[in-house]
Amino acid sequence: MQPIEIGVMFWGGGDPLETVRRVKSWGVSCGQIGLPGDMDLAAASADAWKKALAAEGFTLVTVFTAYSGESYADLPTVQKTVGFIPPATRADREARTLLASDFTARLGVPSLATHIGFVPHDGNHPDYVAVRDMVTRVCDRCADNGQTFALETGQEPAATLNQFIADVGRPNLKINFDPANMILYGTGDPIEALEMVKEHVVSVHCKDGNWPKAPGTLGEEQPLGRGAVGMPRFIAKLKEIGYTNALSIEREVHGDQQRRDILEAIALLEKLR
Ligand code: MG
Repeated sequence: MQPIEIGVMFWGGGDPLETVRRVKSWGVSCGQIGLPGDMDLAAASADAWKKALAAEGFTLVTVFTAYSGESYADLPTVQKTVGFIPPATRADREARTLLASDFTARLGVPSLATHIGFVPHDGNHPDYVAVRDMVTRVCDRCADNGQTFALETGQEPAATLNQFIADVGRPNLKINFDPANMILYGTGDPIEALEMVKEHVVSVHCKDGNWPKAPGTLGEEQPLGRGAVGMPRFIAKLKEIGYTNALSIEREVHGDQQRRDILEAIALLEKLR
């Protein structure tokens, strides 16, 4: 059996060739690109990225879309600003997501993903109904483009996610499983959650973090292997469920610290995969 390939989650918005070369210099040739909310998603931009990726022999497994105005500063801010939940930005963000699906298709990438935000636990809540219907429409555009649409995990317990996926009822609705987010948001043990949602997992983030110190606050992200996830048990669980897609390292710090932590994460995953 081939070992699972190690990749990196990185952000677009800069020069395509420079960006791809920088990520490749870390020693990986696959990963996920995040689209900042203000990034140009017109066809010419997609073509420039496609050319850069081909020139460097770099494979994207997922395109992540984010939205202008989002902030992960603390829990109430996440609730107010992230994903499909805030009503005032919903229509704009739906249009942006459909455009991101077309951008992803032009790149030839098989999966689009996003944080849709905190889904209410009550299935009759108006925000739940509106977001469920919005996700259904996004899934249909993704299906037309031959893609899966993946929900980033973390802000909902596994059971809520499973119920939401069942309620949307689209076979191309999947999960990008981020074990650290389950801990940072205090949502539940990530390995138990992975067991519960395993049939929907299409891609993963390799990220680490510590549990919140007090209720209602966020935990703190840590370099891979130094947080509470337990990377050996996470990778062992992925193998157990038959996961074969990339292990995309996500490290949400910048500059040289990000490079150093990613290099250390690659070395750790080389031993575990
Ligand atoms: Mg993530």
